[in-house]
Amino acid sequence: MKDNNCIFCKIANGEIPSRTLYEDERYRVILDLGPATRGHALVLPKEHFANVYEIPEDWAAGAMKIGQQMAIRMKERLHTDGANLIQNNEEAAGQTVPHFHLHVIPRYKNDGQHMLWKPGKASDEELDAIVKEME
Ligand code: 5GP
Ligand code: ZN
Repeated sequence: MKDNNCIFCKIANGEIPSRTLYEDERYRVILDLGPATRGHALVLPKEHFANVYEIPEDWAAGAMKIGQQMAIRMKERLHTDGANLIQNNEEAAGQTVPHFHLHVIPRYKNDGQHMLWKPGKASDEELDAIVKEME
């Protein structure tokens, strides 16, 4: 299903032009217009799924597979020093476009980006409680 009001549905299906790095029956990989680093790409399913909670398992697996291929190709072609594969869900996690997408962000030594979190602290009791809650 497509969502007529969704910009990523339109981009993924070619109704809005984009700089495409890869395309197959299910996915399109485009360059992000607000790149974190040189080559920042987005893996978009051509069907509309809002987020990781809604996307079927095989579609999620397929997106990761393509993200992996892109990261490998970026290493070869763009001479990257690393890659972050990031996928945001819901506003609290920084999702701004409610159509599932996997970021493939090439990293370069001293690229000045900060995508890693600030480590916190947790007691043994807190960690044990989480294990119990997740059972
Ligand atoms: P989110 O914050 O939802 O995880 O990521 C949305 C991403 O989509 C952002 O990195 C933003 O720069 C990118 N983006 C938003 N609108 C467009 C667009 O129309 N075209 C392209 N190529 N990227 C977009
Ligand atoms: Zn959509």
